[in-house]
Amino acid sequence: MTEEILQCEICKKYTLEKFCECSGKCLSPKPAKFSPEDKYGYYRLSYKKKSQNL
Ligand SMILES: [Zn+2]
Repeated sequence: MTEEILQCEICKKYTLEKFCECSGKCLSPKPAKFSPEDKYGYYRLSYKKKSQNL
């Protein structure tokens, strides 16, 4: 089981819970890390889709 450290949007407290005790939403502290991966995933997906249509 993966224990991902999350950070509260509001009080910036680190937690493993998805929702903080201050009722704030907890997100991954480094969301920028996922942007390039999503981009490559998108291109790979569209490429795969294209080759399936042929
Ligand atoms: Zn909080």
